[in-house]
Amino acid sequence: MSAPRLEVDLEKIRHNASALVSQLRGHGISVTGVTKACLGEPRFANALLGAGVRGLGDSRIENIEAMRRAGITAPMTLIRSPMPSQAGRVVAHADISFNTELDVISALSTAAQRAGRRHGVVLMVEMGDLREGIMPGDLQETVRAALRFPNIDLKGIGTNLACQSGVSPDAGNMSDLSRLADLLDEAFGLVTRLVSGGNSSNLKWALSSEKAGRVNNLRLGESILLGLDPLDRQPIEGLYTNAISLVAEVIEAKTKPSRPWGTIGQAAFGTMPVSGKDGGSDFRTILALGRQDIDPLGLTAAPGIEVLGASSDHLMVDTGRSYVTAGSEMTFQLNYSALLRAMTSPFVTKTYSLPAGQGAFETRMVPGPRSSEELHQWH
Ligand SMILES: *Cc1c(COP(=O)(O)O)cnc(C)c1O
Repeated sequence: MSAPRLEVDLEKIRHNASALVSQLRGHGISVTGVTKACLGEPRFANALLGAGVRGLGDSRIENIEAMRRAGITAPMTLIRSPMPSQAGRVVAHADISFNTELDVISALSTAAQRAGRRHGVVLMVEMGDLREGIMPGDLQETVRAALRFPNIDLKGIGTNLACQSGVSPDAGNMSDLSRLADLLDEAFGLVTRLVSGGNSSNLKWALSSEKAGRVNNLRLGESILLGLDPLDRQPIEGLYTNAISLVAEVIEAKTKPSRPWGTIGQAAFGTMPVSGKDGGSDFRTILALGRQDIDPLGLTAAPGIEVLGASSDHLMVDTGRSYVTAGSEMTFQLNYSALLRAMTSPFVTKTYSLPAGQGAFETRMVPGPRSSEELHQWH
């Protein structure tokens, strides 16, 4: 089997999505399954739909088009403000888009008119994280203007936190969002059917005993993929944290001094952290994987194996006491940053196992070792 490769266990993905869908349902919140990290892979999208998500969200129109081409008819939301130059593609393939600019909404309305369609718009509100969003004080005016576009249906409002500045969703900013929905409905009639409160970082708030208020939707990606809460990157109870792993192949394995020698200048990517060990020697292993494929800081190896660093095409690991040979494979867990890069690297093969009951499991999973004794055997 080719390496490096990402192995996505769709049964675990389905489990994670289904657990979150049913927990949030109890709080009156629907889930939009976010497909961007898997580049709109239809098998991933179908696993989310099988788990009961209400619709799919992606930040790239290319991914939405790929899912449409694969025959997926579920409601789709473009969760990044459309480029006006792509307005035609957006109205053709996405049911709804997130918006903050009247010029963009105008382009969408014109494109929709031309195509004989209507397009749904969710207005994103800035709640403090300083990524996308209309300032709350400008929202009423924007709604008034948006309601005038002939081929646009205003679906509601949304916000996005904890992405640019790490501002956490909490009772304060979420009740502010609810209040904005109330104010808009008082002023314009029922225009905020959808109140999309945020992403995976909203889960702690949403599943706590606090009231969700008007918030009736969340857009979830990372929590489904990695089983982690992005606020503290701790595992979410009941979810798999190993639904996705990365397998790479060893191309060099040698015993080398633990310290570099010679006159030391800058390395290819700035100064590399030097191993804490003083003197002695290590089993240093090189895998055919690099910064073009992953974020080296986002890789976790099996217990007893330490990632030392990476250049464009080489990943260096210290295998401690165990010796591996060229041609053997090593499995890593990834954080969101490493996952995004691996998914977008053309050098990384993606394999998707099918959910239970949907056919043969054609991908052989390489299990990580559970104890250091197993480590040797594993290599
Ligand atoms: C990526 C994204 C999400 C999903 O975020 P996760 O933290 O992966 O759940 C939700 N909303 C918007 C606007 C996004 O860009």
